[in-house]
Amino acid sequence: PLTTATSHLQLSTAAATAQRRQISRLESRCDRFAREKSKKMTIIDYVSTLSDNPYFGAGFGLFGLGAGAAFLRKGYQTGLILFRRHYMITLEVPCRDKSYQWLLQWMTYKGAKQTQHLSVETSFEQKDSGHIKTKYDFIPSIGTHFFKYGKTWIRVERTREQHTLDLHMGIPWETVQLTAFGWDKSIYFDILEEARQMALKQHEGKTIMYTAMGSEWRQFGHPRKKRPITSVILDSGISAKILGDCKEFITNSGWYTDRGIPYRRGYLLHGPPGCGKSSFITALAGELGFSICVLNLSERGLSDDRLNHLLSVAPQQSFILLEDIDAAFVSRDDTTQQKAAYEGLNRVTFSGLLNCLDGVASTEGRIVFMTTNYLERLDKALIRPGRVDLKEYIGWCSKHQIELMFLRFYQGEQAYSQAQLFADKVLSLGKNVSPAQIQGYFMVQKHSTPEEVLNNYELIWQL
Ligand code: ADP
Repeated sequence: PLTTATSHLQLSTAAATAQRRQISRLESRCDRFAREKSKKMTIIDYVSTLSDNPYFGAGFGLFGLGAGAAFLRKGYQTGLILFRRHYMITLEVPCRDKSYQWLLQWMTYKGAKQTQHLSVETSFEQKDSGHIKTKYDFIPSIGTHFFKYGKTWIRVERTREQHTLDLHMGIPWETVQLTAFGWDKSIYFDILEEARQMALKQHEGKTIMYTAMGSEWRQFGHPRKKRPITSVILDSGISAKILGDCKEFITNSGWYTDRGIPYRRGYLLHGPPGCGKSSFITALAGELGFSICVLNLSERGLSDDRLNHLLSVAPQQSFILLEDIDAAFVSRDDTTQQKAAYEGLNRVTFSGLLNCLDGVASTEGRIVFMTTNYLERLDKALIRPGRVDLKEYIGWCSKHQIELMFLRFYQGEQAYSQAQLFADKVLSLGKNVSPAQIQGYFMVQKHSTPEEVLNNYELIWQL
């Protein structure tokens, strides 16, 4: 029993030691907790004392307001960007674009009449009588305008860059931006198409002439009233032959592509001056609804590169007209041109022109017209097939031409017999006469009777 009691005593002593250790661990944890608590209390106390400070409170309030405003602004901007990106459509049209002028005109016509801020564009319009009338077009001024297209309100912003110039035109760079609600981009296609149609309508019945300015084509003068092709009286069949050839070319692009032939056609009209070469080309352009790009090859500063570029950017549905081609080149010899190039006068070289003519082709079909008074002076290389496909002599007046010209000026019962008599008389002298001379004579005799016209015919060569 004593041994048992002793072992019990030892056991209880060990348990007591373990309990004491446990207690001391708990005590130290309590101490740590109390210390941390007291520390926290001091931070809270500190903050509460700061918030009691009126200066700190006001500063903190202001800071809060500023931060809130910045946050709202940022949110607004982001919201606006997202809104514009997903719920608005915009179209930017720079002034270099072809549709820029059309669009401005269209906007003026459509809605800008209601806007109070306009800028003016003055133009001259030639009436059929030849009288020139001044026309003022108002276009929306620089700034923001609104107009309604169908059911959609459109915001128009016209801006002008003061520091950027359009180098070709020498005018400040401008853009027009249209903004509308919605997703439907077709509204802009409709607007541009309407603007184009409106612009085309203005030029209906007119022939536009272009001239080369720098590296682009610019409209030259106001669009001219189309000259009826019947008003240019050529010898029998010539007019119909050229017109038929052109029409066939325009409508047969497939024939060229199928055979791998460049889709272009060259015409050369040669003959004495005043016989209607230029007049016929103008009338033909009017008949086919083409415009005319006039190129002066002797122009200073027209280099081979520029010529090449100009030919490739010529407006669609246009003739390229190279007048008096003999004056630009006498022969294949490039020395004069090269000399000029050395002297700093950029001139087109003969080989450069040949290369340009060979390279001229477009899906639209390129028609090049050349005129000369002296066919014999032209280098064979220039007028070989492929460069010139149709050569036509437009010569001195034939009997048939003189009669027709007489009938255009004088009508009446005896007009036919008078016309024949007049033609016989004019040709009886055996002198060459050009339609320009006949026309000049009829104009001088405007107030004379047909009999006087018949009698005074010798005046034709004295004018
Ligand atoms: P070219 O180019 O052959 O030198 P133009 O076409 O410049 O001749 O003609 C000069 C003027 O003469 C124009 O006013 C034109 O109306 C008139 N003319 C010349 N030929 C004809 C013609 N065949 N029929 C009608 N008018 C003509």
